[in-house]
Amino acid sequence: MNLRDYITEVPNFPEKGVSFKDITPLLEDPQGFALAADQLLDFTEGLHIDKVVGIESRGFFFAPLLAHRLNAGFIPARKPGKLPRKIHSQEYELEYGTDALEIHQASISEGDRVLIHDDVLATGGTARAMCDLIDNLGGVVVQCNFLIELSFLNGRDKLEGVPLKSLIIY
Ligand code: 5GP
Repeated sequence: MNLRDYITEVPNFPEKGVSFKDITPLLEDPQGFALAADQLLDFTEGLHIDKVVGIESRGFFFAPLLAHRLNAGFIPARKPGKLPRKIHSQEYELEYGTDALEIHQASISEGDRVLIHDDVLATGGTARAMCDLIDNLGGVVVQCNFLIELSFLNGRDKLEGVPLKSLIIY
């Protein structure tokens, strides 16, 4: 089976006019899961990576696995108010209002080479915020990778200069 066959498109979710890409069938299938993990890992071939950042919450499915396979540390990027120690925060724009992502300040050391992973690249606002957060802490983003890229939303334009890879492009 092709990776794309594991994704279910759900019309009008979470709101009218949106065709949501549901990745849970991929997660539920051992072959689909393994295929996605292997291919995400292939994207990093030849790269030295110290830390893998997964974006809450669907970035948490694969990022720890990638970190393990790369012998790198895993860093959860969380929504505001979840992390107990000193945090660094980055706001970003949503369609209505703003949101933010946070990581512990101590998680990134100057010069750390960082892979950022999330399930979907849509408008790019989330990934851009994550890159800025890593930059501000002195880390180097060596790649952002995604299971799915919604190319019609032009998220790539917001991430110019950042090496970017996605497995399934709509
Ligand atoms: P962006 O900031 O690029 O507009 O949105 C990306 C974020 O929205 C990701 O964290 C992703 O989890 C979520 N997202 C947006 N659209 C979809 C979708 O169709 N399916 C899934 N699974 N997540 C989505």
